[in-house]
Amino acid sequence: MRVEIVRDIFQFVPLPYVIAWYVIGAISTFLFIYGIRRHVSAWKRGKPERIQGSALARLRRFTYIGMVQAKVLSKKYRGLTHALLSMVGFLLLAAMFFPILSIVAGYIALLFGAGLILLWYRRVKASDSPLETAWEDSFVFAIIVAMTASGFLMMGANPWAWPSPVGHDVLSHFFEPLGPKALVELYPILWLIHSALVFMLIAYIPYSRLMHLITSPLNIYYAPIAPKGQLSTPFDLRQMMETGQFPATVGAAGIDDFTWRQKLSFDACTLCVRCTDACPATASGTKLSPMHLILKLKNLELQPGSTSRRLHGDVIDPEELWACTTCRACVEQCPVLIDHVGAIVDMRRHLIAEGKVDRKKRDLLTNLNNVANPYGLPAFERVKWAEGLNLKTLQEDSDVDVLYWVGCAGSYDPRNQNVSRAMIRILRHAGVKFGVLGDEEKCNCEVARRIGEEGRFQQAALELIELFQKYRIRRIVTQCPHCYNTFKNDYPKFGLKMEVIHHSEFIAALIEAGKLRLRARETRRVAFHDPCYLGRYNDIYEAPREAIASNSSVELVEIKRHHQNSFCCGAGGANFWYTVEQKRKASVIRFEEAMETKCDILGTACPFCTSMFEEASNVLGTSETTKVRDIAEIVGDMLEENA
Ligand code: SF4
Ligand code: SF4
Repeated sequence: MRVEIVRDIFQFVPLPYVIAWYVIGAISTFLFIYGIRRHVSAWKRGKPERIQGSALARLRRFTYIGMVQAKVLSKKYRGLTHALLSMVGFLLLAAMFFPILSIVAGYIALLFGAGLILLWYRRVKASDSPLETAWEDSFVFAIIVAMTASGFLMMGANPWAWPSPVGHDVLSHFFEPLGPKALVELYPILWLIHSALVFMLIAYIPYSRLMHLITSPLNIYYAPIAPKGQLSTPFDLRQMMETGQFPATVGAAGIDDFTWRQKLSFDACTLCVRCTDACPATASGTKLSPMHLILKLKNLELQPGSTSRRLHGDVIDPEELWACTTCRACVEQCPVLIDHVGAIVDMRRHLIAEGKVDRKKRDLLTNLNNVANPYGLPAFERVKWAEGLNLKTLQEDSDVDVLYWVGCAGSYDPRNQNVSRAMIRILRHAGVKFGVLGDEEKCNCEVARRIGEEGRFQQAALELIELFQKYRIRRIVTQCPHCYNTFKNDYPKFGLKMEVIHHSEFIAALIEAGKLRLRARETRRVAFHDPCYLGRYNDIYEAPREAIASNSSVELVEIKRHHQNSFCCGAGGANFWYTVEQKRKASVIRFEEAMETKCDILGTACPFCTSMFEEASNVLGTSETTKVRDIAEIVGDMLEENA
């Protein structure tokens, strides 16, 4: 028995039409290849980059995010529209060649039509975050509609066409009066029009946003598989000191200073606006919109003469870069895995290398250089918070199970010193054998790395790793998600091998092990705010909730944006240390969201969130009714000895 695998697409079509098909097809193929070459040569002008992660892991991710479109589908309306147009469109294309699919092809085409209606409705009617509506989008939309309509008409004119609820069952009735003429005369014309539209669309792909059909899957495949919080390492300070050879440029001054993979990623943007919708800097009314930033880079890399153009000032306003809190909401949302934060830090690195910073940023870096903390306070004041607590430093006794890393905020900031004291109560109550570094502790320079001062960061990393090795530290606990992320994801590249634990995980584990005796107090409603560097960067969502809700007197409630959708307090990416022109502070927006839960306490797990929300609470005049409390303070207050 002969099995027909490939469909004869030229059935019922006379030779002149077939010749025309080949001519149009050849022109379309030429234009397509020519356009693609333009993109590929733009990417190739970027710097080299070795792709991280095994091919197998990338394929797995490609299947989940690229083919199943897991991220796209997380937004119901947009996800459904995109799935109908892309997945169904792909099946429709396959049905042209594989008759096995033709049984359902008419129904697939109907779904595609439904996708077009949803897209039209969203563009015309939907008021939330309207998409960029360039004329090009309307043009592409018109071609696709015409293509779909001609496809249905074609099916209607051909009595032997695929079973189709629109073409065969409805439109065929209009062709019936024509008799065989419909198939002999009209069908070939409709077939050629339909084919020409398909070819037109194919030829137009590399010159339009449809290019994302190619670049998005490529980027999803090539995006590095690495810890989320890890930034690129533009140079190796230790090697530079040994060889005396320094890089000619640091960071991105021009578009070709990005790597080929980053340039491919900019080209993959689909203009879906999801990043900008989630961005706290955009919501605060700063100049930054992550989508537009990526678009500017994308447009620049495809322009002739892009290599010689300066990025800073000409294309990107430095204010856009400084407004970023590195909260990663954009990256989390992006369905095609574009890394906005990496690109922004690369551009900041150049501004820092050129000394193009204002006084506040300069002061911050000077403080880190001179006194190894961002507050500009002397090293001996680092331990003042612990006066009367009789803490043991590692210098006095290094035989400990865990190093309690207090951090600069926990040491110098009066509000956060209270959190450090609560931590000491908890550690002692649980009988943990711990020590502190005392005045040997110094900033790990997370803030330097995020602002773009890579040299200062690497120097701090090398010095601290040496100190940890001196005391043979195996475990470190910290209340700061920024310190946590730096030790866990940044320092290992420089040789750190140590278990890094956030205090929320540590406290939750102590409670679980029955080492903390908690007493019920008056019932309180607590809303927990997920700090970006704890949640989105390190996927720690449940431990702080478990710690807070471990006591029956706590009623835990969720803010409307929570877990990976949490909204930044506005302090990250060094924003805590300088001023950005904005209409409304992110901390105030977030605090108001928390107020909607009618909570008595806004729970935090980050010193910077605590400070930002205390300030927001004062601005809104709610400091008497709603308290801002770190989880260590919440649990510390519930310890039996404090009840
Ligand atoms: S990291 Fe946060 S602040 Fe920066 S662009 Fe992305 S969403 Fe906006
Ligand atoms: S960068 Fe990503 S999330 Fe933002 S518009 Fe482009 S594709 Fe969408």
